[in-house]
Amino acid sequence: MKQSMGYKDSMIPHNRPLITSEDRRAVDLVLSSSWISQGPITATLEKQFVQLYSGGAACALSSGTAALFLTLKSLGCTTKNTVAMPTYACSALLNAVNMVGATPKIIDVLPDTFCIDPEALKSQGQNPDYVIAVHTYGAIAEVEALQNQDCRIIEDCCQSIGGVNAGDLLGKKGDAAIFSFYATKVITGGQGGLIWSKDKAVIETVKDYREFDCRENYLPRFNLQMTDIQAGLINSQMSRLKDIRERRQYIAKIYLDALPDGLTVQAGLGDAGRMAHRFVVIAPDLMTRDALKLYLELLGISSAVPIERYELLHRYLKLDKNNYPIAESLVDTTLSLPVYPSMTDIEVDKIALSLKEFKL
Ligand SMILES: *Cc1c(COP(=O)(O)O)cnc(C)c1O
Repeated sequence: MKQSMGYKDSMIPHNRPLITSEDRRAVDLVLSSSWISQGPITATLEKQFVQLYSGGAACALSSGTAALFLTLKSLGCTTKNTVAMPTYACSALLNAVNMVGATPKIIDVLPDTFCIDPEALKSQGQNPDYVIAVHTYGAIAEVEALQNQDCRIIEDCCQSIGGVNAGDLLGKKGDAAIFSFYATKVITGGQGGLIWSKDKAVIETVKDYREFDCRENYLPRFNLQMTDIQAGLINSQMSRLKDIRERRQYIAKIYLDALPDGLTVQAGLGDAGRMAHRFVVIAPDLMTRDALKLYLELLGISSAVPIERYELLHRYLKLDKNNYPIAESLVDTTLSLPVYPSMTDIEVDKIALSLKEFKL
């Protein structure tokens, strides 16, 4: 889902990054320091993640896709390996696996969390070597159930940074966690990505790949660096991570209270610790979903179908759609409503009231 551009000024956009005066000052400090490429501020971001996770190591990169690609590579994934991933996910997963040359294994998702279904994975027979477990829109993927299948796990926290489940920060359980700082994510630098792992050797390998310049020995490496300009913006936003989570939770709670009979939502939206990256409503059928979208639009509220049918990864690969009944149904019934800290209380109340008055 790309950043929405062409919305009318009077519309409440589906997404709008919050850039505070502190954020601007942080960027300005970098600009006036005369060191604007990867440098000390990027290192500070990496330290912030080590602090957040009370240990391990972190490596900042140019994007979440780069983070996925390099995590797979540094965990030893090659053309001989298989990598399982949910079909209801962004194409970045497939692209990263293809960059490594491994074989993707596309799995259906659970109807309540929209996360990869461990049973569906099991029923595909042979264990994959790696699984990308996406905490979709902030929901909790069942990492432990996946670990039972004897494979290495990458937690994709691009939509769940700062989310807490049963007292634990998401991203701690797998072999590595990856993050994105794209414009529509919880924390943004415009673009950017990061890998955190408790295994420092994994991060050493990633950092070696990223430092392509002035090396004595030649190895294929690549410029996937973040700039200090991005890192300055991200660092500044990271200091508000808990406030951001609480504001998103607050808005989600107001919508939940206004939800009319007949509409449900993605599981866990009201849970303590949830990072409500998206507030996704589930309608009983396609007609109701499309009616809700149009109804909101006429009231000046942008909403988005978070993943369209043609974007499902099994559709890209032309696999049998009958093996993906849940994802095939979700693309017809889901609608994502605006939920982000730059919303005013007036905007939040307007959306809640509109939801409440929607006649199914
Ligand atoms: C955004 C996103 C990515 C890719 O991140 P980029 O920074 O856009 O490359 C990967 N996985 C998920 C779940 C995402 O939401």
